[in-house]
Amino acid sequence: MTPTIRNVTILGTGVLGSQIAFQTALHGFNVTAYDISDEALEEARGRFKTLSGTYAEEVPLAADGKAEETRKAITLTSDLADAVKDADLIVEAVPEVLKIKKETYQKLAEVAPEETIFATNSSTLLPSDIKDSTGRPGKFLALHFANRIWQFNTAEVMGTPDTDSDVFDAVVQFAKDIGMVPIELHKEKAGYVLNSLLVPFLNAAAGLAAGGYAEPEAVDTTWKIATGAPLGPFQIFDIIGLTTPYNIFSHGGPEEQKLAEWLKTEYIDKGKMGVASGEGFYTYPDSE
Ligand code: NAD
Repeated sequence: MTPTIRNVTILGTGVLGSQIAFQTALHGFNVTAYDISDEALEEARGRFKTLSGTYAEEVPLAADGKAEETRKAITLTSDLADAVKDADLIVEAVPEVLKIKKETYQKLAEVAPEETIFATNSSTLLPSDIKDSTGRPGKFLALHFANRIWQFNTAEVMGTPDTDSDVFDAVVQFAKDIGMVPIELHKEKAGYVLNSLLVPFLNAAAGLAAGGYAEPEAVDTTWKIATGAPLGPFQIFDIIGLTTPYNIFSHGGPEEQKLAEWLKTEYIDKGKMGVASGEGFYTYPDSE
């Protein structure tokens, strides 16, 4: 029987976790958001406030005060056992570091109810890398969102060979229920569909700018005019935030590591982190 999902807990209230929590609460699910400390929860409050404004402006369903109602409906806690005690589904969006992910699942395995489904939002790790830490490989899979989930609303669903098909189906249904377009992967692929396309694309763009071949603006202009795409690669970098691509590049080969170093010295070290910090490759005067 396909499990029913009503209560959803999000682990990690950073860029993606806060968006997943907000989107899920907006669609009527009971949402608890967990983070590791009171300081992190204070930051989460700020993120939810900003998201409330963005949703009110950009998402028709969130108009007429619904965005603020949604914000107030999200329960915030730094107590893991309390956060997950009633969860049907846990969506994990903690930092993209294997050790942190594994430790998180080991702790979760001890405190979450036996029937709770675990989903990782990891962009670069395979669920098979993590599944043994979950203590419930049948109820574990990846559910991968894209940044600005209310707008770029794909949700890639990817199990391991151990994932129960009922669990897979329940998570596909959940994705639909929160306004996503589920993208089902039939087997594990690092980078899913989206990042299998996006990472080499951003890599090529960074190579052009870091190698002194063309300015970021020229690269974006070329891509937009010649393909009709609405955004160029450097606009995408800014939306993602430069830390995530930096982490991905720094785990690559020598060429990628040069790109990581370039991102760090020219942008990240200067506080240019992308849209969220008000400046990246472009400036965003309206950003908080
Ligand atoms: P982030 O750094 O913005 O947020 C991570 C959050 O996790 C922070 O709030 C941090 O306090 C919290 N945290 C740290 N250690 C923790 C722990 N042990 N337990 C619980 N919470 C902990 O990161 P992010 O960009 O939101 O990425 C989170 C996950 O989402 C990663 O797996 C990443 O690959 C994935 N993802 C990110 C994007 C993106 O565009 N940023 C897109 C898709 C998927």
